Amino acid sequence: MMGVDPIPINWGAKTAAERGPVIVSRHIKTMKYRNAIGAHGGSYCIYRALAVASGNLSEMHRPDFTNTQAPYKFGPNPQWSDPKKIVSLDPWGHLIVENFNNLLEQDVDVRPTIAVTKAHLKMAEIDEALKNGSIVPDDKVVSADGNVSVVKAAVEPVWLLKGVAERFNTSESVLRRALFEDTGGMYPELITRPDMELFLPPIGGLTVYIFGNPEIINKPDTKLTVRVHDECNGSDVFGSDICTCRPYLIYGIEECIKQAQSGGVGIIVYFRKEGRALGEVTKYLVYNARKRQEGGDTALTYFKRTECIAGVKDMRFQAMMPDVLHWLGITRIDRFISMSNMKYEAIVGSGISIINRVDLPDNLIPEDSMVEINAKIADGYFSSKSKPEESDLENTVGRSCQLRAGNAYQIIELATAKFLDGIRATRLLMLESISESPAPLNRCPVGMELLERRRGVG
Ligand SMILES: [Zn+2]
Repeated sequence: MMGVDPIPINWGAKTAAERGPVIVSRHIKTMKYRNAIGAHGGSYCIYRALAVASGNLSEMHRPDFTNTQAPYKFGPNPQWSDPKKIVSLDPWGHLIVENFNNLLEQDVDVRPTIAVTKAHLKMAEIDEALKNGSIVPDDKVVSADGNVSVVKAAVEPVWLLKGVAERFNTSESVLRRALFEDTGGMYPELITRPDMELFLPPIGGLTVYIFGNPEIINKPDTKLTVRVHDECNGSDVFGSDICTCRPYLIYGIEECIKQAQSGGVGIIVYFRKEGRALGEVTKYLVYNARKRQEGGDTALTYFKRTECIAGVKDMRFQAMMPDVLHWLGITRIDRFISMSNMKYEAIVGSGISIINRVDLPDNLIPEDSMVEINAKIADGYFSSKSKPEESDLENTVGRSCQLRAGNAYQIIELATAKFLDGIRATRLLMLESISESPAPLNRCPVGMELLERRRGVG
């Protein structure tokens, strides 16, 4: 029988060795050391399961980390050993081979949750800026043919559950139960293993794009330009004109390039929080509802339509967002390229000072997205211009769209109600069967025996 012997985690310890490795793999020689709930890869863990199920990937596969290390030195920064400053990522996540090679050699499946690499960007807007002279090539940050040099870091979430609960002013047990129930009971260990403090949630992570020398970000006299951007695939990639996402992102990149060219560092943090973390399905439902409502798509009713459908106007909850800035060792942002009050307050509230807030220049705002931008300014977004009055909001009207079938609303409502009933019944059944289960599912000795027999290991 294989015992359970999790390697202790001392979150906030001074060194990686004292902190301990985050272990979540169910690999046969690793299983008993597991100290975290969930799986690697964020939402992609499901694809890994598919690959195993379909016979395309051996569940015994172990990564070969030859030559995968970061090309630049990141940290350690003092923030890494402050257990309150970082609770949603593993600050040592890119230094696995360096710190835990002894475990890797014993065939323990420790994996990185952060990876750092170098890249060149080529974007139409930057070519345009070079042509019109607003960006000047320097052959360091930008070449004459428009290649922009960056260093980028991909970060997967690692949550210290009690720390996350604290950020949201709730208790760890309430958070664990909500995570367990509202994922359809996907992670029983959330409620059966309070000794496991870490959770690798099945959500999108983030990417940091760094313009300039990444090794001076944490130096107090380095001037920093920062934009924190939440994914909007429709605008960022496909150029939809209903919002200001891509224009603001490009403007941020241009400002980052300029900061790097003057000896500072520019940073874009790109979060996978599509549609204010409500997802694209909800987002498109809101678009339709906005365009079809009586009086048209106005700034005055912008947030109301989202609340009607999603129940909240925003689920990005910026409470955990500053963690990545602390990971980078940032203590001051000189130019913050964002109008969001939620982002500003979260960053300043976490102890990083912001010297200047930079709003999006008018000439970069698409006409149809005036609805969004005016609604946000009225709601508290930063703007160097005067706040719109209620009459301005009523008068900010976007394009409308015609309903094809007169009874489309009723049909959608009926289908949604049926769907929700289905979820409710399944959830009840699941909860009942779990509470009736004789032993915590993850500890069930029968389960372990089965596993060992299947893998032929005693
Ligand atoms: Zn957008």
